[in-house]
Amino acid sequence: MEIKPVSARGGARQVWRWSRYVLLCVAFITLSHRDATAQPQSGSQNSNTLPAEQLEGVLVRDLRPSMGTLVEISIWHPDQAAAQSAVDAAYGEIHRLERRLSEWLDTSDISIINNNAAAGPVSVGDDTLVVLKAAIRVGDASGGAFDVTWATLSQLWDFSAVEPRVPTPSEIAEKLPMIDYRNVTLDLERKTVFFQKPGIRLGLGGIAKGYAVDRAANLLYSSGFSSFMINAGGDINARGRHGDQPWKIGLQHPRKKRGEVFAYVFLTADTLVTSSDYERWFVQDGKRYHHIIDPKTGFPTTKTASVTVVGQNGTLADAAATAAMVLGPEKGSKMLAKLGLDGVFVKENGHIVVTPGLKKRLILVDKGPLDMTGKVPAKTP
Ligand code: ADP
Ligand code: MG
Repeated sequence: MEIKPVSARGGARQVWRWSRYVLLCVAFITLSHRDATAQPQSGSQNSNTLPAEQLEGVLVRDLRPSMGTLVEISIWHPDQAAAQSAVDAAYGEIHRLERRLSEWLDTSDISIINNNAAAGPVSVGDDTLVVLKAAIRVGDASGGAFDVTWATLSQLWDFSAVEPRVPTPSEIAEKLPMIDYRNVTLDLERKTVFFQKPGIRLGLGGIAKGYAVDRAANLLYSSGFSSFMINAGGDINARGRHGDQPWKIGLQHPRKKRGEVFAYVFLTADTLVTSSDYERWFVQDGKRYHHIIDPKTGFPTTKTASVTVVGQNGTLADAAATAAMVLGPEKGSKMLAKLGLDGVFVKENGHIVVTPGLKKRLILVDKGPLDMTGKVPAKTP
């Protein structure tokens, strides 16, 4: 969730990290008329058959910081004022969830769990239970590749530090025995969380944005809005269209400039989430270390440069994309199938692997293998 304030070492406390901007991020949205119509619009209705009220409207679009990124919300609707207040409500929901789920805010459920759950069961809110339940589901489906107790290492892997450093093997070895989500007991009836071992820390950075986007999208849809797009730093939920155009999502080339894509997907009623090795990283002794950690080794994953997951459930998709980075295409595709999700993997060597369900929808600009000799997309300020 990347909501970490600048660490004590980093000086002034600053709640939002501005290091990643949605428009320059993992995926970008194009509203270009020509682009969108130039491509087949798979799964979408022909615009001639759309009811007039869906074609007539305005695009209300906003960008606001939340969950450590800039969240973009766009609504297509005939009534601009109604759309604007819906945008406000959707941001309100995302902020509410951030306050519950961020491990970087002292009063969140997650911080309260981290500080107290080894001593006894800690009461938590429904959102926290739902997210942890989904996290356990993806943990099981991925054979532990997705593990919310990865955060036991988060003080060692501090990507926000002024001078991040690679932990020593012995520092990692000391913490590894505490990394196992099966040591976290979730009591759904009593609504409590308990750590069976001391020293565990939970971190929802790999799943909370997906949940927040799901909830915000549900709020908009249940309030009668059928054409919108929410993008929380690459966790995207899109429905309907803007005018006669479908929402077109570009997938970032992992070793080219921001905005250079290798593929597109049109979204009409689902979620698309990307995890990658180029969003948060630092270099030590000429080697790049990124922010997705293999719970088995305690070190960053190496098999995959990026994974984009598409499906109905953004919470599962978010966690599954993180897990798929750890597992790589072969095992990762099997895990996605278990969860009813699809995906496209870019391997370190540039080979592209697409799961069967996405083949028809993915429009490859570059069929691969992608040229991986370039630098990762530049970090944003
Ligand atoms: P992003 O936050 O860039 O959208 P992800 O959804 O893949 O990307 O989440 C990466 C974050 O997930 C990391 O910054 C960290 O907070 C957390 N994380 C890292 N490794 C794991 C893991 N193996 N299992 C669960 N969470 C992880
Ligand atoms: Mg994720």
